[in-house]
Amino acid sequence: MTDENRIRSFDFHCHVDLDSNPPDLIQKCEKYQVAVLAVTTTPKAWPQNLEWTRRSRYVHAAVGLHPELVGERFSEIELLEQRIADTHLVGEIGLDGGSKYRSLYAKQKEVFERALVAANKHGDRVISIHSRKAARDVIRAIEKHTDPTRVLCVLHWFSGSIAELRDALQLGCYFSVNSSMFTSKGGTKLIESIPLDRLLTETDSPFAKVKGKPSVPWNTVELMVPISELFGLPSNEISETIWRNSTNVFQFAGIEISS
Ligand SMILES: [Zn+2]
Repeated sequence: MTDENRIRSFDFHCHVDLDSNPPDLIQKCEKYQVAVLAVTTTPKAWPQNLEWTRRSRYVHAAVGLHPELVGERFSEIELLEQRIADTHLVGEIGLDGGSKYRSLYAKQKEVFERALVAANKHGDRVISIHSRKAARDVIRAIEKHTDPTRVLCVLHWFSGSIAELRDALQLGCYFSVNSSMFTSKGGTKLIESIPLDRLLTETDSPFAKVKGKPSVPWNTVELMVPISELFGLPSNEISETIWRNSTNVFQFAGIEISS
């Protein structure tokens, strides 16, 4: 692969199917050479995502069941397990301990834990995980149900404590960070505590905002600037490290990004 065809950046958590024009967004990812892990929020939405991304070299669809949707979608739990057999990418799954979703917590746990068990059973799975106000329980579930040689967990937009972050690192987790995390002291402190060899980038597009507008996958190119400032390293060095981490993570799932 020549340098000009090389992937420029990586978005490890993007809701491609929530964009107003997913096929157009996928084409733009090709144009801007951004590799994307396209999360889905229900297993029923996955086939359409797979269809959109089937011919894309850059955008890869994952199957998930978002913790915020567990109330209305709990019945899709078996479908989720079945579909985890058919794809090496899983997400968005996880737990949300916020007051709005707290009443669903037991059901959320059941979905999350069964998805982890399924991913671990099949092996070579990469998972993008939501852990808002639930980091401790998410980490416990990862420890209990997965083997890091079979499942690679990426904690997306992590907002737990530094101690929780360290425990997740011990379990082999990676962290995908976005520009919104840099807008708070707490978020910046967390990013600073991630070893560079576990750092990935994301947008949570379209939810996280960049300059007041919904984020898009190629915003990850600009993300090299605040990361390099924070770590005091040249941005090309950061970008090279993240490139290496990202291709390794995709490779874990059997996806060759560099060729
Ligand atoms: Zn998300």
